Amino acid sequence: KETLDKGLEKSKTTFFTKLNKAVAGKSKVDEDVLDNLEEILVSSDVGVNTTLKIIGRIEERVSKDKYLGTSELNQILREEIAGLLSEVDSGNATEFTVPKDKKPYVIMVVGVNGVGKTTTIGKLASQFKKQGLNVVLGAADTFRAAAIDQLQIWADRVDVPMVRQNFGSDPASVAFDSLKSGVTQNADVVIIDTAGRLHNKVNLMNELTKIKRVMQKVLPDAPHDVLLVLDGSTGQNAFEQAKHFTAATEVTSLAVTKLDGTAKGGVVIGISDQFKIPVRYIGVGEGIDDLQVFNKFEFVDSFFK
Ligand code: GDP
Repeated sequence: KETLDKGLEKSKTTFFTKLNKAVAGKSKVDEDVLDNLEEILVSSDVGVNTTLKIIGRIEERVSKDKYLGTSELNQILREEIAGLLSEVDSGNATEFTVPKDKKPYVIMVVGVNGVGKTTTIGKLASQFKKQGLNVVLGAADTFRAAAIDQLQIWADRVDVPMVRQNFGSDPASVAFDSLKSGVTQNADVVIIDTAGRLHNKVNLMNELTKIKRVMQKVLPDAPHDVLLVLDGSTGQNAFEQAKHFTAATEVTSLAVTKLDGTAKGGVVIGISDQFKIPVRYIGVGEGIDDLQVFNKFEFVDSFFK
């Protein structure tokens, strides 16, 4: 909770400084206030579509209650944002529980380089291990030697086995080996790192499709989860990446990292709404415990406190 509060601090301060300015001297929510609010939401990287949706809903409430006070604006915003996030994920989880009937549970992690993919995998492995689960990592980002080594550092640090091949080898083959190893070791979770090369969309799609197809030779319903990692501090780039990855493969959950370093935490709301994919994790720091299961109620609580 404290990490979350601290992680959102920059976004909060920026947002409320602007909002307070927008409502200064006004007792009622009027056109002016709404125009300003629209600008503030867009500049917080909520995204234009989602911003218009939120503004539209507030306008509706204003037209019903002509004397809606600016002091109520916080409460209304909070309700509307929680409502939007609930449309994508109705749950209220504060922990992610690996389904027991899928063993090993296979998570394929996708995202471009630099967004925090390796760190997220390391943090996840650590959390699963703390839950008493056996974890195997698969280093299927074979295009960069450093990617394999970096993941190895996390595997050693968390003390979980990692399946690797040489730099330049076939990613699908590493994924295949990783699942085999997971089955043999009776693992609960296998987490597969993949290369995040966006230079060519057709290649990306082919690569991810091949990895999936080869994994399914070991486990027909793998992967159970395709987790897209996005850097929350990159705003519109994160939207673009989400667009490309969702076009290339079926993304089932999101991790939005580096929220601690940005004033634009609104990206969490916009991306989830626009792509209709639940945010499962948020990264609010570099430490091993700074990856949190995303809970929309805690998020809005922390933000509108
Ligand atoms: P990859 O290339 O996608 O695998 O990215 P890395 O996992 O190597 O992360 C890139 C950098 O971002 C590293 O310096 C991480 O420590 C840092 N990082 C990752 N997640 C977070 C986060 O939630 N907050 C902050 N402040 N830094 C992060």
